[in-house]
Amino acid sequence: MHRLPQGRKEARQGGRFMKLSRRGFIAGVSAGALAAGTARAGAHKRFRGYPGRMGLLHDTTLCVGCRSCEFACTEVNDLPPPTQPVGDTRVFEKTRGPSDKLYTVVNRYGGGAGGSPVVFRKHQCMHCNEPCCASVCFVKAFTKTPEGPVLYDPSVCVGCRYCVFACPYYALAYEYGNPATPRVVRCTMCYPRIIKGQVPACAEACPTGAIQYGPREKLILVARERMRKWPDKYYPELFGENEYGGTSWLTLLARPPEQLGLPADLPYDPLPNLTTNFLSMAPLVAAIFPGMLGGFHAFAKRKQKVAEEKMRQHEAELKRRHEQEIEKLERRYRSQLEALGEQARKEYERRLQAEQKAAAAGGGKEQQP
Ligand code: SF4
Ligand code: SF4
Ligand code: SF4
Repeated sequence: MHRLPQGRKEARQGGRFMKLSRRGFIAGVSAGALAAGTARAGAHKRFRGYPGRMGLLHDTTLCVGCRSCEFACTEVNDLPPPTQPVGDTRVFEKTRGPSDKLYTVVNRYGGGAGGSPVVFRKHQCMHCNEPCCASVCFVKAFTKTPEGPVLYDPSVCVGCRYCVFACPYYALAYEYGNPATPRVVRCTMCYPRIIKGQVPACAEACPTGAIQYGPREKLILVARERMRKWPDKYYPELFGENEYGGTSWLTLLARPPEQLGLPADLPYDPLPNLTTNFLSMAPLVAAIFPGMLGGFHAFAKRKQKVAEEKMRQHEAELKRRHEQEIEKLERRYRSQLEALGEQARKEYERRLQAEQKAAAAGGGKEQQP
């Protein structure tokens, strides 16, 4: 039977285990140092999420690692299908994260030399109740919808990628391969489908029922019931119910979170609360961003001036070379013309002399009767 380590839950509720992710920690420390004095710890109000919002439950004990969800996700998001086909187990040789080509991935855990049973876990944006990506975004490109999904608006995104580094679940990807209009991308929780009353594509495609879609509160009851009924099968805590204020995607764990690639002992306090120092940087960044843009603009203008000057120099050099070439050609043709003229003059003189000789010879003959 799985047991929760002694005092773990209470400590997390009480904030004793105030472990931040590496990113959160770095972000917090650096931002705190930069924005010292402006921090407003505790100013963030606790938001427990919109009532009646939807969620998705992934039960790792039912997942067989078929990756049908990955294929369904690429299809619904107009992405090329995964390069490795269903059934190709080589894909599990390394742990993958969501990318701009795959918004959700399934990874395999266990089954190694230790002989622990194999468990598959699906990974994607968790659609946090209090999304850190939204909190750090100073142009407000992210919105938590009452339905549950966290939406992203690429039209206002300035490409700073704060959100990518702030996400505690490493769920965001940036389209580096799209230099013209790069976006931050991740699971949309199939928002376009769910607002039409449809089920998210991955949940629909899952052949084992490992992904269940429904009102989040109901999914929590379903999960608790399974944990109560089969304590040997499940780790006794539903991942996503409370971590960092809770998420729309919930995961029923066959093993402790740290054995399934998830951070253990996450505080229940929302991450935006814990990174208030970091958030205090947002106004600072917002303030300096126009300056940064101005800097970029000035830099671009200076670059343009330098380029124009270089172009002028280049044109002058071309003109000089062009004139030199013409002069050379003129010299060459002039000498050729002179030579031709000389030849023609000589030929003319030769013919003239010949004609004169012929005339002289003809005149002599005529004088002879
Ligand atoms: S998992 Fe990351 S990207 Fe998704 S809502 Fe939470 S903070 Fe944002
Ligand atoms: S909810 Fe939609 S976007 Fe998210 S992983 Fe499933 S299919 Fe992909
Ligand atoms: S489709 Fe279902 S069973 Fe297959 S990998 Fe995805 S979650 Fe697991």
